[in-house]
Amino acid sequence: MRPAARQRRRSDLTLPMPQRDTSLAVPLPLPPSSSTLQLQHSELERVSRIGSGAGGTVYKVLHRPSAKIYALKVIYGNHEDAVRNQMRREIQILRDVDNPNVVRCHNLIDHNGEIQVLLEYMDRGSLENRHIPNETSLSDLARQILCGLYYLHRRKIVHRDIKPSNLLINSRGVVKIADFGVSRILAQTMDNCNSSVGTIAYMSPERINTDLNHGRYDGYAGDIWSLGVSILEFYLGKFPFSVGRQGDWASLMCAICMSQPPEAPPTASREFRDFIACCLQRDPAKRWTAAQLLRHPFIAPVSNHSQLLPPHSSFT
Ligand code: ATP
Ligand code: MG
Repeated sequence: MRPAARQRRRSDLTLPMPQRDTSLAVPLPLPPSSSTLQLQHSELERVSRIGSGAGGTVYKVLHRPSAKIYALKVIYGNHEDAVRNQMRREIQILRDVDNPNVVRCHNLIDHNGEIQVLLEYMDRGSLENRHIPNETSLSDLARQILCGLYYLHRRKIVHRDIKPSNLLINSRGVVKIADFGVSRILAQTMDNCNSSVGTIAYMSPERINTDLNHGRYDGYAGDIWSLGVSILEFYLGKFPFSVGRQGDWASLMCAICMSQPPEAPPTASREFRDFIACCLQRDPAKRWTAAQLLRHPFIAPVSNHSQLLPPHSSFT
């Protein structure tokens, strides 16, 4: 017979339960989640090469022990100890970033001086060169990106490189922001002769030309400009300025800094045209924040307002 089922002989002899003082409660540390487990380089097998960007090459890799697929970004060049330590500190911050609309950064691997970043794999690739003329799809897409941006901005993380190739999608239709922070790390490791890395095509006027805003640069507002350019590009199916996205620095700089911001065409809905105008304000102080844009009628039709409100946001 199990002790719990045994009959009590003296029911009057009961020990009182000690009173629990909740002020003394100390939460137990949680076990590490699988997403923060250390994944070793030796356990990864390269399946295929996904593509290359200005700062590195991305591979699809298999983590043999778990049979899970990841993306591995191998950053060009061997790096000095000081740079590697700085990158390690930054990746540590990125590893704590956990949001459904931000690509998960699992680990930084230092493989004989070569820096590799292990990322969540997005099986439908990037939104580069996608034409999305349907406003309902575009609204859903913009809402997802804004949720990711809102999360990052609330944590005081500025992306600085929002553009279609850094917006990834998976087969469940979930859109995620990639390369945040990694782009900053890359910028720091660029040597002088390699300073043409990256494109200014999605950068805000005041970031390209520091004279425009009295030398002040607000990274949050910069991210919103880049989002606006990307969303308008999806709608039009082409880069929205008068020059090509791949144009040289001088023509891009003229188009972005010296002319009026691009607008959605008159054939688009009033909500969409207004949404783009709120993102592409020339004066960064007038650009809407991610929290405000999440409540814009293009993103949140009036009937859905209460469900979509981000917590603690202020709408003006
Ligand atoms: P840049 O270097 O200016 O950011 P890029 O975004 O094209 O340009 P990478 O970030 O190196 O360059 O990416 C190279 C390719 O790998 C791109 O096509 C990108 O969409 C793809 N890619 C990057 N990260 C992932 C990921 N986590 N899952 C799936 N594909 C990815
Ligand atoms: Mg990228």
